Amino acid sequence: MEKTCYFSPVVAQLSPYVPGEQPKLANLVKLNTNENPYPPSPQVIAAITQAAQQGLQLYPDPAATVLRQAIAAQHGLTLEQVFLGNGSDEVLAHVFFAFFQQNCPLLMPDISYSFYQVYCRLYGIEVRTVPLDVSLQLRVADYATDRAVAGVVLANPNAPTGMGLPLSDIECLLQMHPNRVVLVDEAYVDFGGQSAVGLIDRYPNLLVVHTLSKSRSLAGLRIGYACGQAHLIDALTRVKNSFNSYPLDRLAIAGGVAAFEDRAYFEQTCQAVMSSREGLVLALEDLGFVVLPSQTNFVFARHPKVDAAQLATNLRQRGVLVRHFNQARIEQYLRISIGTLHQCDQLVMTLTEILQPVVDR
Ligand SMILES: *Cc1c(COP(=O)(O)O)cnc(C)c1O
Repeated sequence: MEKTCYFSPVVAQLSPYVPGEQPKLANLVKLNTNENPYPPSPQVIAAITQAAQQGLQLYPDPAATVLRQAIAAQHGLTLEQVFLGNGSDEVLAHVFFAFFQQNCPLLMPDISYSFYQVYCRLYGIEVRTVPLDVSLQLRVADYATDRAVAGVVLANPNAPTGMGLPLSDIECLLQMHPNRVVLVDEAYVDFGGQSAVGLIDRYPNLLVVHTLSKSRSLAGLRIGYACGQAHLIDALTRVKNSFNSYPLDRLAIAGGVAAFEDRAYFEQTCQAVMSSREGLVLALEDLGFVVLPSQTNFVFARHPKVDAAQLATNLRQRGVLVRHFNQARIEQYLRISIGTLHQCDQLVMTLTEILQPVVDR
């Protein structure tokens, strides 16, 4: 007998995002999902603990005003220029829904955060990928077109390449497509990139998305936000209030506010990640890797003599997790998150072991 399919027809067509492995095993050197190797600020833990002791029987503020105020103050924006979501992935989903369903293609780099294409399939948005150049750099001139487009999305710095664009390039894109939204995903900007937030007052088509998952060590709390002129934020709020009125719970709101208050801890941990990165790049180059210049909390590297998929497998067998993408043009690269100094040492020691027979030859 044939089984009944209960799915809405569109569900069979979806091809969901596959997140990096979150293994249950202890003692792994986990460098595969670009989490921060340091815990959140102690002030964040204190704020969450306090919030847990009062008021959880009540719904949170649907507009999460205190956290939006903290973010606005941080960036020199007004409350009306900040939109919050349950992780930046949710914010991105709302941006795609709100602005890019235009019956013409959305422009994005061929190599970028792969979730963008997942949202496009979910919402039926046509995609036109624009190839990065041979050195995996984005060339803004390639985004000029006479044909109608739904908008432009890019990560700056880009993932998984780790390389960033100067603000002059972002301005070029904004001027090229004045009637469409240009979405700049700055998930990694705090590790050495240039933020476009300062351009918001001059460009009505600019949306900048940030997350607390990477530079503020809060991947487990799920907070992301978009910054842009009030008319864009209004559209996002309409979508959000048609989907989930309370994307941020009371603990996330309290923890998020504390994360922005403890500026010293934030700067110290970002600095620690960036200085570990410098050491790791040198050590990888000593082992023969070619490493792209990184403005993020990960490096993107290939070894001219060793297959990347094989290397990832060998590392995993020895308890070190890194990310390999089975995608044309980057299948010989590994994306390696910057760990603590100790984790970086463990990675380099394990690689040395694996590569010894190759290097001796
Ligand atoms: C990690 C990441 C995100 C998702 O962040 P969350 O806030 O944890 O959902 C979005 N964009 C890019 C480019 C990322 O690397």
